[in-house]
Amino acid sequence: MNWLSRQNLKPGKSYGGKMFNPQTDMLALDFDGVILDSIEECLVVGYNALAIQQNRPERIERLAEIDQGLAAEARRQRNFIRHGQDFVYIHLALRQGFTIRSQQDFDHFLEENEIFQADFRMLFYRERARFIKEDLSGWMKLNPFYPGVQQFLEGYHPKSRLLIITSKLKENIQTIFQARSVYFPDGNIYSANQKASKFQIIEKVLDKNHINGENFHFIEDQVDTLIRIKPLGINCYLAGWGYNNAEQVNRARNAGIPILYLPDLAKIFLTD
Ligand SMILES: [Mg+2]
Repeated sequence: MNWLSRQNLKPGKSYGGKMFNPQTDMLALDFDGVILDSIEECLVVGYNALAIQQNRPERIERLAEIDQGLAAEARRQRNFIRHGQDFVYIHLALRQGFTIRSQQDFDHFLEENEIFQADFRMLFYRERARFIKEDLSGWMKLNPFYPGVQQFLEGYHPKSRLLIITSKLKENIQTIFQARSVYFPDGNIYSANQKASKFQIIEKVLDKNHINGENFHFIEDQVDTLIRIKPLGINCYLAGWGYNNAEQVNRARNAGIPILYLPDLAKIFLTD
């Protein structure tokens, strides 16, 4: 049973009693865990970045090259990620045998090791840039779109009212779209960083477009980010197909944030 049937809603542009109108509303999508299933690429790059930081010579090109117990644990901890450098922290925690069970544990670990943050961020993006430069097709293989999402992006109109709001570098997204021949306006890709959070970006977009929160829709797979953004009065949705566990899905439900599943994307937001 999908979200629509659970909510007793008819497929179409209707949800929660309000109609979605792509002519007057804006839709914003997070990138990793909503559009792109990038878990393997991020964990591979994070692994290599930590090896560089620790002066170890080993490099990997697939997650299958590391101990499978560790790889499974790294995949589980993906649910707590917010930024690129966090993937390096996952591997640091695994090497140190530090147990991470919750978002709180993960955030505590980041705080304790804050001294590495700038270095990890620099090494993560530098290692990714090297990977792209030396083996674009190998890199692309680790970065599949979720099923049907490319068709969704291509079929959505008007394109001017479709945004991406992500913590990924804009140039990484452009590389992926270019490699798959997806047209997406550069000006509609917003990258959050230390200077501008997703909250601040959305605040600015609302202001710039003279649009009310109720006409703005944001799909994201990180529940904490959604809970932080909700006070803006926009429509928040948790991408149930992305990186979240049962506890996080429950937290979204308790915060009144609807859970979407992949087929809902086209059913609710795609125009005919
Ligand atoms: Mg995400």
